[in-house]
Amino acid sequence: MTNFTWREFDAHTASVGDMIIDQGTIAYVIHIEERGFSNPRFLNREKRVTLGEYRHEFFDDEERLSGYSFDCFADGTIPEPSNYHNVKDDPNLIDGGIQYYERDFKTPATMKCVCGEIVYMDNVMTNTCGKCARDYSIGGSLLAPREQWGEETGESYSDIASFNPSINDDSWKDLG
Ligand SMILES: [Zn+2]
Repeated sequence: MTNFTWREFDAHTASVGDMIIDQGTIAYVIHIEERGFSNPRFLNREKRVTLGEYRHEFFDDEERLSGYSFDCFADGTIPEPSNYHNVKDDPNLIDGGIQYYERDFKTPATMKCVCGEIVYMDNVMTNTCGKCARDYSIGGSLLAPREQWGEETGESYSDIASFNPSINDDSWKDLG
């Protein structure tokens, strides 16, 4: 079992039973599921992570529309008591007990760029390496440098610019 901060947490190396403990928030990793297509080019497939979180809740009144909530461990322990004891001892508040919530999120597939950097494959059109700016398709194929886009069809930038004079250099790059 590993304890991560949110920044450190990586769905591709985490395991069920790990926790995220960070600035008063506590989350249990309760499920990790591989999703999406597998691809030999990828380092990791897309994953869906389910987190379980316990909160001790206190309410201002029976309507339960407002109040206080403290992230806690499964046994109810509060990691950073802060004003927990003041709230708990306040006779005007209703103790709602420890509630359990689940939420999940998706982490994109990753692949290694030819430069060695990890690229997150989260865009259906292009996935760009943050280090060398190479572009990859969602399937992991290296795409031609942007300045060459359009060359396969025999179009040059000047042909397209004259076909549509409103296209300037910047918008041409954005066509990708
Ligand atoms: Zn790269």
